Amino acid sequence: MKKNNIGLNTVCTHIGEVKDEQFKGAVSPLYMSSSYAFDDVEVKRYPRYFNTPNQEALSKKVAALEHTEAAIIFGSGMAAVSTSLLAFLHKGDHIVLQNALYGGTMNLVLEEFHKYGIEYTFTKSLDVKDFKKAIKKNTKVIYIETPSNPLLKITDIRKVAKLAKKNNIVTMIDNTFASPVNQLPGTMGIDIMIHSATKYFGGHSDILAGAVAASAEHINQIFQLGKNLGGSLSDFTVWMLERSMKTLGIRVKEQNKNALKLANYLEKHESVAKVYYPGLKSHADYELAKSQMSGFGGMLSFELKPEYNVSKFFKSLKMIKPSMSLAGVESTMLSPTKTSHALLTPEEREKQGIADGLIRFSVGIEDKKDIISDINQAIKKSKKK
Ligand SMILES: *Cc1c(COP(=O)(O)O)cnc(C)c1O
Repeated sequence: MKKNNIGLNTVCTHIGEVKDEQFKGAVSPLYMSSSYAFDDVEVKRYPRYFNTPNQEALSKKVAALEHTEAAIIFGSGMAAVSTSLLAFLHKGDHIVLQNALYGGTMNLVLEEFHKYGIEYTFTKSLDVKDFKKAIKKNTKVIYIETPSNPLLKITDIRKVAKLAKKNNIVTMIDNTFASPVNQLPGTMGIDIMIHSATKYFGGHSDILAGAVAASAEHINQIFQLGKNLGGSLSDFTVWMLERSMKTLGIRVKEQNKNALKLANYLEKHESVAKVYYPGLKSHADYELAKSQMSGFGGMLSFELKPEYNVSKFFKSLKMIKPSMSLAGVESTMLSPTKTSHALLTPEEREKQGIADGLIRFSVGIEDKKDIISDINQAIKKSKKK
């Protein structure tokens, strides 16, 4: 754990920046070289070694945000997830994974792990008791993701971390949904924080990237595999990401505010059956969320009542974009039934609590009244005749 006493927005704006000694420009210069001197230098630099000036600058910012010693930047969230997992799992090892995970992470485990002889167990629920039950003698990693997608369920970070420590198991969290603005798992005992930087870090729906923050030792272990797998990020995109992250704090805080207001509004709405948002007192895990999050995030889900046609609703939206992905400054919505959970049978979806009318809502920074008026005009048009 590395304590940092610098304020969040100052970290976002300044930490890591490369000083422009030559021209005294205000921002980090962009170094696009893929070739650096090998002789008479301290560090042999090469983009695939994650050590160009811009890559190092951004790593420092991510580490400071997550209060860790070190960080490493990847070409995508999945490169960050896969490299981290495989760096700590070898043939014959076992991993315990939370049962509600990002679809890409599920696919990685289900489609690839058997090829490497890695055993896995998905927990029955998010309750720490089920994590305990799933641990075996050869368990090397516990992997969680909270709040979960798409129902925003909460896993008890402190309890899982404690359980893992007792059993000498490395813990990883996908901290994408909360972002370090709202949740600092490293301060609650989690070892490795993973991000799809495509989401809140980027924040403008125009960057594909990933990041991992942890102790220097853990990051080095991930780096050793990372340089062989080759999932680093090009410097231009690294530089774009550094720029985007300067506003991470103010963007996410605005999204927290909007999402909380909208969750409250939708919960009282006559056309809405249910709202899932950890910041609502009606949320099953509200108290737990409050104990481990400083803000509740920009993601919420809601269910339209059966008398509304969801496809018609999406087609009727004017400002809010029906689209995959999330966390941009613009509001977007998607139907889990038609996207992330399309391959499940209706019965399997029902078992997971994913109704046909469920809408996942990535709340942007637009003015609340404009978001509400768009939702309401679309609801009006989608009433079944
Ligand atoms: C998008 C996402 C990922 C994967 O990230 P990519 O940048 O698309 O590779 C992983 N975890 C979560 C929670 C995500 O939302």
